[in-house]
Amino acid sequence: MSNLYEGSNGPTTRLNGAPVPTEQHSQTNGLQGGINLHDVHLLEKLAHFNRERIPERVVHAKGAGAFGELTVTEDVSKYTKAAVFQPNTVTPMLARFSTVAGEQGSPDGWRDVRGFSLKFYTEEGNLDIVGNNTPVFFIRDGIKFPDFIHSQKRLPDTGLRDANMQWDFWTASPESAHQVTYLMGDRGIPKDFRHMDGFGSHTYQWINAEGERFWVKYHFKTRQGWDFLTDDEAAELVGENTDHARQDLFEAIERGDYPTWDVKVQIMPYDEAASYKVNPFDLTKTWSQKDYPLIPVGHFTLNRNPGNFFAEIEQAAFAPSNTVPGVGFSPDKMLLARVFSYADAHRYRLGVNHDQLPVNQPRCPVNSFSQDGYGTYHYANPNLPVHGSNATGRGPEADTAAAAKAAGCPVHSGHAGQVDAGTFGQWESVGEEFYAGAYVQHPEDDDFSQAGDLVRNVMDDAERDRLADNIVGAMQGVSPEVEQRVYQYWTNVDSWLGAEVEKRFKVTK
Ligand code: NDP
Repeated sequence: MSNLYEGSNGPTTRLNGAPVPTEQHSQTNGLQGGINLHDVHLLEKLAHFNRERIPERVVHAKGAGAFGELTVTEDVSKYTKAAVFQPNTVTPMLARFSTVAGEQGSPDGWRDVRGFSLKFYTEEGNLDIVGNNTPVFFIRDGIKFPDFIHSQKRLPDTGLRDANMQWDFWTASPESAHQVTYLMGDRGIPKDFRHMDGFGSHTYQWINAEGERFWVKYHFKTRQGWDFLTDDEAAELVGENTDHARQDLFEAIERGDYPTWDVKVQIMPYDEAASYKVNPFDLTKTWSQKDYPLIPVGHFTLNRNPGNFFAEIEQAAFAPSNTVPGVGFSPDKMLLARVFSYADAHRYRLGVNHDQLPVNQPRCPVNSFSQDGYGTYHYANPNLPVHGSNATGRGPEADTAAAAKAAGCPVHSGHAGQVDAGTFGQWESVGEEFYAGAYVQHPEDDDFSQAGDLVRNVMDDAERDRLADNIVGAMQGVSPEVEQRVYQYWTNVDSWLGAEVEKRFKVTK
């Protein structure tokens, strides 16, 4: 997609296309006189410059991205009818990777989760998978998201980040333990964006041509191999180069060393959700790969850098609400919050017509009765009705037959309530149903077991040792009260780790 201004080698012009008299001198009254208000080029140039910045993303502000293709090599049609996932389909795509807490100019080497966002320009509409480089998240309910992010950002008075605030939130939110373990482990500072896996993280729904439904989790396994930086290596690198991951991605693609990820899924039969050993819609949990092994789908390769970073990466609008037939949501509360929140963030950041920007435009026909607003570029055929529910017999119509077969979630006919369905939600027992406030806690489901499994059974001795050091490094500055809670938090994950953190932290005091 090229959106270069034509004639870029010719004389410079104003934004209306008329020639500019000079880029060197303002129009003045005499050699040193006042500047004239009708020097329209000067006024336009300064005014446009003042408006170059748009609001940065509240989270995931610092990132990098590139274009490529998804190639489906396997047959997963028994799980989904989505055209993008049918065998031998090749779909153009965009990927954007990012850190979470830092601002636009922050270093790529901070210990942080990395965003892993994919936009597939499919023939049935854009499918966005907006995940991270971790399979889980800090919280399981979107109502806590602003509080969580505030705790990771900056204090209102000093404008500084604050370990006490971070650990206060984490220890007061035990569901964070799994993700914080991941974050403090080696994979908390990936070497760069190419050397990390991605995860859709949430549970989504797939629906096949027969209308059968499945629960699905996406995994993107790097072919470059997982690699990481230790705290010391990252500190040194950040001192030299705050943009190393952005630079690495760009340069690898420029030299033709195209990064590739294998696309795999875990599939859970629909009815098994009710009896699985953890709530399969809880974003703080993984599904064991021993129970649900990875099923290969294909791979994607990034092979084209953006022609303009602002136009194509800064203005890229990824939203989990962008789904296609054959793909749907699950009753994961974080997912459902993000389904609202991401598109809404883009309405604020880029405007209500952000889908009309070239980087976000679907590559299939768009027939919508939504109209007007800032930045309208596409518009409906003026000979067709502008309103739905018309009786003209002309123009687009909703495909109600397809809608009847669309992905949806079952609901329980109880009353609305605000409870934690992840681990402690037993406010209403209705047999083995698992939806809408009726989740029945499995005895093995809790906030700490999977984190402990990661420490004891996935990490090796050397990583466990670094994990304890990384935690101690990240604790510097906590209050005595929070310090005690941190010890208890890690003891709940693993008794060795709790004792080790306490021993090592006390040495640093
Ligand atoms: P498995 O042994 O089947 O899978 C372990 C997973 O852990 C693999 O995906 C592996 O990824 C990943 N892994 C390996 N080393 C690390 C590390 N140092 N830090 C983080 N992840 C690592 O076990 P289960 O599926 O039963 O999961 C056991 C625990 O592993 C879980 O509690 C969870 O903490 C963690 N995990 C699970 C994932 C899942 O989707 N089930 C995904 C990632 C982590 P790789 O193939 O790249 O080595």
